[in-house]
Amino acid sequence: MTKQINVTRSSMPSFDEYCEEIKGLWDSHWLTNMGVKHKQLEAELKNYLHTPNITLYTNGHLALENAIAVMDLPKGGEVITTPFTFASTTHAIVRNGLVPVFCDVDPKNYTIDAAKIEGLITAKTCAIVPVHVYGNMCDVEAIADIAKRHKLKVIYDAAHAFGVTYKGVSSANFGDISMFSFHATKVFNTIEGGALCYADDSLAQRLNDMKNFGIRGPESCAYVGGNAKMNEFQAAMGLCNLRHLEREIAKRKAVVEHYRKRLSDIEGIVLCGPQPDVQSNYAYFPVVFEGYKYSRDEVFAKLGENNIVARKYFYPLTNSFECYKDMPTAGAEKTPVAKYLSDRILTLPLYADLAIEDVDRICDIILK
Ligand SMILES: *Cc1c(COP(=O)(O)O)cnc(C)c1O
Repeated sequence: MTKQINVTRSSMPSFDEYCEEIKGLWDSHWLTNMGVKHKQLEAELKNYLHTPNITLYTNGHLALENAIAVMDLPKGGEVITTPFTFASTTHAIVRNGLVPVFCDVDPKNYTIDAAKIEGLITAKTCAIVPVHVYGNMCDVEAIADIAKRHKLKVIYDAAHAFGVTYKGVSSANFGDISMFSFHATKVFNTIEGGALCYADDSLAQRLNDMKNFGIRGPESCAYVGGNAKMNEFQAAMGLCNLRHLEREIAKRKAVVEHYRKRLSDIEGIVLCGPQPDVQSNYAYFPVVFEGYKYSRDEVFAKLGENNIVARKYFYPLTNSFECYKDMPTAGAEKTPVAKYLSDRILTLPLYADLAIEDVDRICDIILK
């Protein structure tokens, strides 16, 4: 049996490098609650992402829930978003007592179709939650213009966009808040983890309180907060991984370039991007099978038989999840482009250490 190739493989520092990083924790016995590693990672990420404010979290999902919460949106308000995303985006809206209104996606870059947003705005619309997908960026300029004219908050799910820039500007600098995920499967990981980046300094204290039960001081609890703090071992992993990030992204780029060389100009296979003015992080490699000699599901199964794990991502759309079947705004038929993509897309294995020979083996199977 040939060795298994998974769709992703977490970037990790050497064992010795991580041990060196966490050694001091055995002297201090300070394991969580905004310790030295947390503070250091905050400072380094602020610098790397060129953001004026950053708040670290134990995962990206709770960060996104908190980001939406501090926008003080009216209960039952409508939030325009995309169904072509991970469960987290839609759940974060619904868990805040808000109603997701699903906008279709752009057929070229698979992010929310900005030209279709205004048609969905009603008197109840209070915010937009767009998602940068695969390392592509949303149409940030059009979205900013719509938000300004209609006085809407914009919270970006930037889980896929760590280190991505548009016209040289960091993905952390668009909308009211951007959420990054540092989950093990993402381009940059802290095992589990996440962050919010934002320009408004006045949000900093509230977000920092909110992730620690709303506690402001020893005798003061300002908000009904939860617990979403990043611990010292997570932050230490982040400090190590950040040192190797540029090289990891360069290795991903080489893998993507080889995939492109092998799969471009094949009838029935559509590749995504690259987008003009966007410096990608090569987070995922999506392939759309449209009119190819095999269907997406046949390719997925054939790769599986050969011990290669691809991912139907994003499938199903969040607006066709069974947990939303009774929600009036649900229904994949309302977003036909997203539905079309979701039925045909496959993300192929992609990680920094994926060997070029393995990329060839994957492509050989797809093309055979
Ligand atoms: C990973 C991811 C999240 C959630 O982040 P976690 O850190 O896993 O909680 C949210 N949205 C998208 C698009 C993601 O890919």
